[in-house]
Amino acid sequence: MSSLEKLIWPPDASDSQKEFIISGIQRLSLLKIEALARNAAQIRMRAYAPYSGYFVGASMLDIGGNYWNGANVEVCSYSETGHAEEMTVKNAAVSGIRDRYGANFVDAIAVAHLGDSAPCGRCRQTIGEFCKNCLVIIADTEGMIRNVTSLEILLPNAFTPSHLGKG
Ligand SMILES: [Zn+2]
Repeated sequence: MSSLEKLIWPPDASDSQKEFIISGIQRLSLLKIEALARNAAQIRMRAYAPYSGYFVGASMLDIGGNYWNGANVEVCSYSETGHAEEMTVKNAAVSGIRDRYGANFVDAIAVAHLGDSAPCGRCRQTIGEFCKNCLVIIADTEGMIRNVTSLEILLPNAFTPSHLGKG
């Protein structure tokens, strides 16, 4: 098993998703994926999480090679809280990026937090609004890569813009 294959989560991912992940890392370069993980850990320090104390940072690479960052922002009434991945992608979505690259602009997104969880369902759906599939990098709070997976693995058989005749 190659060192890249060891990063794939879950280990029993389909061959097509393993190929998607490995070729994605090779296309972007491991250095860029590592930088993405470090960015996520750095922006995590700017999270506003006075209620949960659960700090999350995210960093996205768009298909033009630009980095976008975000962190969670809690609101005392809780339901208005913005999640790190969601904030990152939505911030990019209103930047004019769609004029340059179209609606499918997410190439890879890293998320950094305590523990080894993956993006929540809300964030998976939000990421899926802006790509057909992408790399999802899970990083620790030091910015080290825990593992790499794909949106299709995290959100199989997704409801997508195509179901509403878009995209
Ligand atoms: Zn979320």
